[in-house]
Amino acid sequence: MSVADKPKADCSGCNACAEACPKHCIEMIPDKKGFLYPKVDTAVCIDCGVCKKVCPFEEENRKLHAPLAAYAAWNKDREQYLASSSGGAAHIFSSHTIKQGGVVYGCTSEGMRIRHLRVDSLQELFKLQGSKYVQSDVRGLFGQVKADLQAGKPVLFIGTPCQVAGLKNYIKRIPEHLYLVDLICHGVPSQQMLHEHIHHILNGRFAEQLSFRKGQLFRIELTARCGTMYSSEPHKDMYYRAFLKGISYRESCYHCPFARKERVSDVTIGDFWGLQDAISLPLDVSEGISVLLPTSEKGKSLIVAANADMQIYERSVEEAVEGNTQLYCPVHNGISAWFLSMLYPCFPFDKAVRIAIVKDLILESLKNMLRLFKPVLMPIINVIRR
Ligand SMILES: Cc1cc2nc3c(=O)[nH]c(=O)nc-3n(C[C@H](O)[C@H](O)[C@H](O)COP(=O)(O)OP(=O)(O)OC[C@H]3O[C@@H](n4cnc5c(N)ncnc54)[C@H](O)[C@@H]3O)c2cc1C
Repeated sequence: MSVADKPKADCSGCNACAEACPKHCIEMIPDKKGFLYPKVDTAVCIDCGVCKKVCPFEEENRKLHAPLAAYAAWNKDREQYLASSSGGAAHIFSSHTIKQGGVVYGCTSEGMRIRHLRVDSLQELFKLQGSKYVQSDVRGLFGQVKADLQAGKPVLFIGTPCQVAGLKNYIKRIPEHLYLVDLICHGVPSQQMLHEHIHHILNGRFAEQLSFRKGQLFRIELTARCGTMYSSEPHKDMYYRAFLKGISYRESCYHCPFARKERVSDVTIGDFWGLQDAISLPLDVSEGISVLLPTSEKGKSLIVAANADMQIYERSVEEAVEGNTQLYCPVHNGISAWFLSMLYPCFPFDKAVRIAIVKDLILESLKNMLRLFKPVLMPIINVIRR
């Protein structure tokens, strides 16, 4: 039996099976929603089972470890802090690796295409900064990571937990000079959904750059040489509504075995939600604070090396977990997610989201109307009350 027989809910599209196949007979093919799934050329397949041995969704292929500590942290370098999505931990780990003569693998946006990229110079690290809230394409990358490791270079790989797990299974014996960092991950929409949304907004025009987040504001910004072409109202654009409501994700995200406190990498990074309510923080970190969860001595060593460039405070693991649902369960596959999965791709993405969340949109309009009429209604209500 090969990975092609697995149900969709048990495939995160990490690409490990395609890279590990000794016959190179697995290709990742997009489904109707644009999510990549393995297609096996059965004429070439020798049924060796390697593809299943590297699949992170097979329970015996997952080794998770509890966090050894929890830290709240942010980059002391203001420019790098502001260029990052959260506290800027990823950039510090990355620059430290490159200064040691190593290479970093992370996610970049090349125009509207989101993919993982190998970076080996400090000047190019900016390409990896910022969260891209869509599934990154890692095809063809794990072999490069292996080659760098064989050449003795320190390698830092940053990605979603399923991507890290796929890489680990592909590499098999993890050498001391491979550093793994995973993101706390809510779930991923497909690039097809994103591209359809952008096409709908731009109506035939072309943007050169795409950004997803400015500090605490989740907004899509599209720019070209002539300037900003589109900047959505925070949290309000249809792509973001579906993303933040958790209804546009890959099927496996709703059953994610990595959405728990025990982690797959050396350090997990994410947003330290809720910290501002617990302690008073400097005003200039209102854009975001990173949570760092090391699970190995190697992970701790990364944090120690970052110490000079980061403001770091030890907090309890319980506090870090409490503020972040993705550290104890996957996103719930509710009725709106089911509805959207029925509607898309029969309808264009934006229209399908509008229909799936019609109840929210009606309630929102009612609230806005009430707010508008409040100055007229309040005196009448007061008279009635008297
Ligand atoms: C799809 C997605 C969902 C997320 N959901 C949550 C959540 O629910 N809770 C939470 O606390 N944090 C979540 N995060 C993580 C958060 O957005 C920040 O990326 C994280 O806090 C690191 O911030 P930073 O300032 O250190 O790094 P940043 O400068 O923001 O860099 C982020 C790093 O992540 C990598 N990266 C960016 N986009 C992707 C991608 N699509 N796939 C793989 N790697 C990528 C980049 O290579 C870079 O190294 C999510 C991130 C993504 C991409």
